[in-house]
Amino acid sequence: MVIKCPKCSANLSFDDLKIKENQIIKLKCIKCKYTFSFKKKVEKTIIDNNFNNYSDNNKAYFLINNEKIYLKEGENIVGRNVDININNDKYISRKHCLVILNMKNKKITNVILLDDGSCNNGKPSTNGTFYNNANNRLTKYDQIILNNNDKIRVGRTEMIFILE
Ligand SMILES: [Zn+2]
Repeated sequence: MVIKCPKCSANLSFDDLKIKENQIIKLKCIKCKYTFSFKKKVEKTIIDNNFNNYSDNNKAYFLINNEKIYLKEGENIVGRNVDININNDKYISRKHCLVILNMKNKKITNVILLDDGSCNNGKPSTNGTFYNNANNRLTKYDQIILNNNDKIRVGRTEMIFILE
């Protein structure tokens, strides 16, 4: 990430991967020594707050080509030869996107979909992850809380999210 010094306009670059969204950061300009603060802005975040779906579920799966693939608690990588295998689609990255299943007292609290590269050394998928609509491609800033019957497209493959 590059930030312009408000005093001398020097371009200051720094590693923003460890900085949380909306966190206030203090920087000192290496050129003029001026100290200033700014907020890391979020490009876009989709959060679906419809938690009604998660009332009493303890299992969740994706329906992929009429096959049920169950999610485990914690991180599930979608890709080739990983947790959720889709080996017959060349448009899918080896580690394509990530689905996190959170549980409390053996019930699902939420299931989150990300294509932010966190499962692949910071590199998001090549061909994208689409949520319920061909035009709705996830950016690396999106975290989507999945709802029952949501449709996710990776490569040429559709995954339907089902709570059980
Ligand atoms: Zn400066």
